[in-house]
Amino acid sequence: MMMLTKKMIEIRNVLQVIGQQSALILPSIVVIGSQSSGKSSVLEAVVGHEFLPKGSNMITRRPIELTLVNTPDAQAEYGEFPALGLGKITDFSSIQRTLTELNLAVPAADCVSDDPIQLSIYSPNVPDLSLIDLPGYIQVSGLDQPPELKQKIADLCDKYIQPPNVILAISAADVDLANSTALRASRRVDPRGERTIGVVTKMDLVEPVRGASILGDRKYPLRLGYVGVVSRVPQSSGLFSRGSGNITTAITKNENAYFSAHPLEFGPETELAVGTTTLRKKLMHVLEQTMAASLQGTSDAIHQELEEATYEFKVQYNDRPLSAESYLAESLDAFKHSFKEFAESFGRPQVRELLKEELDQRVLDVLAQRYWNKPVTDLTLALIEPDPLSDLPKADPENLYWHRKLDASSSSLTKLGIGRLATTNIANALQSEVEQLINVSTFSTHPFARQAITDAASGILNERFYSTSDQVENCVKPYKYEIEVDDSEWAKGRQNVSDVLKKELKACEAAEKLVETSIGGKKKMKDVMGYIDRVRKGEVVLEGDGIGGGGGFSAALLAKGREAVFLRDRASILSMRLLAIRSKQCTIKSNKYYCPEIFLDVVADKLTATAVLFLNVELLSEFYYNFPRELDLKLGRGLSGEEVERFAREDGRIARHLDVVKRKEMLELVLGKMESLRMLEGREGRREEAK
Ligand code: GDP
Repeated sequence: MMMLTKKMIEIRNVLQVIGQQSALILPSIVVIGSQSSGKSSVLEAVVGHEFLPKGSNMITRRPIELTLVNTPDAQAEYGEFPALGLGKITDFSSIQRTLTELNLAVPAADCVSDDPIQLSIYSPNVPDLSLIDLPGYIQVSGLDQPPELKQKIADLCDKYIQPPNVILAISAADVDLANSTALRASRRVDPRGERTIGVVTKMDLVEPVRGASILGDRKYPLRLGYVGVVSRVPQSSGLFSRGSGNITTAITKNENAYFSAHPLEFGPETELAVGTTTLRKKLMHVLEQTMAASLQGTSDAIHQELEEATYEFKVQYNDRPLSAESYLAESLDAFKHSFKEFAESFGRPQVRELLKEELDQRVLDVLAQRYWNKPVTDLTLALIEPDPLSDLPKADPENLYWHRKLDASSSSLTKLGIGRLATTNIANALQSEVEQLINVSTFSTHPFARQAITDAASGILNERFYSTSDQVENCVKPYKYEIEVDDSEWAKGRQNVSDVLKKELKACEAAEKLVETSIGGKKKMKDVMGYIDRVRKGEVVLEGDGIGGGGGFSAALLAKGREAVFLRDRASILSMRLLAIRSKQCTIKSNKYYCPEIFLDVVADKLTATAVLFLNVELLSEFYYNFPRELDLKLGRGLSGEEVERFAREDGRIARHLDVVKRKEMLELVLGKMESLRMLEGREGRREEAK
């Protein structure tokens, strides 16, 4: 014996990983029999434990693929449901409960399911065997059973009793063999009786003479013969047999007692095969032989599967090797690469620009608030406000009022909380860039990685946030007291602020155009604006509060009109200020009271420059240094093999690719094993012949 069965079972376990179909090409012993024929008792006698679902109404609804693995050096006996991941179960009554639950989970309407339950039992007391227990045949459906049950069971059994499987046909001695459903079914697919073992149970229920004549029967000859058994657990074994105890001794003792009590009928001279021990040996022997005979066929079938997998790999995936690890590593590299590119393109100048733009807006706000107009936040106010342009006061450099006005304006910039503002701004920019990078990376389809990357970024940014904003705030402190401006700064400020105002003017005009379109044309807009202007000048009185409309215009139209008026007024202020800034007066920094726009721009510029210096050191460099390392930790070394696999499989395309690769690898592995088995087998065969 070369332990072929054991090796083939190992092979089948590998095949099982890549799918049920592949695993089925290895021969098993399929157990069939009518209900109550003693099928479960035989199986349990072979295993040595009661583990099958019992109960009068309990029928097996799913095939049980039972793999017995002999573990000669082990003490413990245990079962495992590989598909359920419950681990080792040493308590056989717990296995029984699980099987019962799995059976009951099949909806009654479906009767039976052909989705097999896989169960492996490891024990020093079992032979290496691969058995499939099928639902027992029923003669007539019970009242509470669906009428099609009988047929469904028969169909399910037919599916399994095909070659190369060995059929274990169970019949009870107290039923005429001619009426044995199991034998009838087996004869249909194995008419010459070449791969059927007949088991006659309940030998103790018929007269020994009759029992012996059943076993010696030549009417239904089977090449593999009949075995008579008494496989019921004797009642007297009582407590011991229930639960987890091994029942082999109890059964064989009882069985031996029966057969040896009738030496004339069952003694060695009769050459009849009796007893569970004999049955076990026969099963092992037959399966081993069947495995050997099917080696060629099985390896051909695996070869075929391998060819299909290889073809799929070539055609669909261009022979591109892939593993979950390599996929993750490549994705991570690509992501870090794109991050590096970003980091190179987003440095001090870019931070500066971003921050300055923000401060430019603040400058405009301050100007609008303190110089150009009272804030027109509530647009209904525009209806009763006087024309803002008419009374813009003219600055007087000698007047303290204008000094304080400029001081207050510049204070509102320096005390703006630039530390917080700048840090928030840049942190947000970094965070949203990371989001962008994720979106264009392979990680976009991986929620897990997306979260990990986002967390990595926000983790670092949050950690740096307070110290950075404090640093920045500290460093702009001097500007809160005094701001010195030199000529070149002034010139630069003048240029910049005029650009800003021009841009703002354009934005204003564009917005006005949009309102115009939404109102329905130039003319209509002019009419509405004209009305609002007249109300403002007090030439007409607004009906009601304007909420219900007025002057023949709807409320909605009036609202749009107010917006248009606001934009027009703002545009004219901006044009006016632009003119002022371009005027000769504003070329000289001593005229700062005339040109607050320029002065405030210079302030904003100084604040920006200082902030950028510290943001660069405290936030940017730190982020650029730590982020890739954090990524490595979160998505690289820090992940377990399982997590990596789960990650890769989040993407359906990758999961399929991985499946094909794995399938191919497994089949190659199995084929290699098969080849060496065949060589061994060939050698053994030759040795046998030589003897
Ligand atoms: P299954 O429905 O085919 O699985 O049959 P079971 O194994 O559950 O057996 C049906 C009944 O027959 C049970 O009450 C068993 O105790 C009993 N039985 C099974 N084998 C024997 C046997 O060899 N002798 C006797 N006397 N009873 C048996």
